[in-house]
Amino acid sequence: MKLGKFLTRVSIAIITLIGTTQPLRSTELGPEVVLNATYQGLRKVDITRANPKVRWNVRNGTSSPCGRITGSLYCPRSNTIYITQQHIKMAYQYGDAALAYILAHEYAHAAQIAGGSRLRNITQIELQADCLAGYYMGAMPDVSFDDKDIEEIARIAYQVGDYEINNSQHHGTPKQRALAVLTGFQGSQQENGMAACQIR
Ligand SMILES: [Zn+2]
Repeated sequence: MKLGKFLTRVSIAIITLIGTTQPLRSTELGPEVVLNATYQGLRKVDITRANPKVRWNVRNGTSSPCGRITGSLYCPRSNTIYITQQHIKMAYQYGDAALAYILAHEYAHAAQIAGGSRLRNITQIELQADCLAGYYMGAMPDVSFDDKDIEEIARIAYQVGDYEINNSQHHGTPKQRALAVLTGFQGSQQENGMAACQIR
């Protein structure tokens, strides 16, 4: 009889679930479903044909071709999006749509590079990625976001904003980031679409 392999696989699956689904509400989709559906949606609406791989449930401190992981990121060197365990947990303090936003934001960085973006200022790059994330989420054909989801997205974008305006890594203030993602989302519902995310 050979059970070892099977049991190991089952226990890994259980650990993965326990590690990521709390504090999940019953009406919310779990992280794996959210990430898969969002990724499929992103592939459909992105016109740059960015083709990043996704690694999720990554622990902080894991090494990558872009250095040690300290938070979710897109690494151009491996063309891979890393979504950390900590960020999945943080996202679910808001809800499932917040996790979709994190993936969409990192995917937007892959699309910026694939699309030949000439932006060099970190704050502009980050705010455009927020805007594109909002646009993508609103434009996805098979995934829909209700008012509560949109509120979750705005709240997490606000939460990850910072006030370090003199820091070269400044990603945008809470207000700017929430506004950027909402602008993109709104753009997706209008004719001008992605033009809403062009930095003038
Ligand atoms: Zn970013």
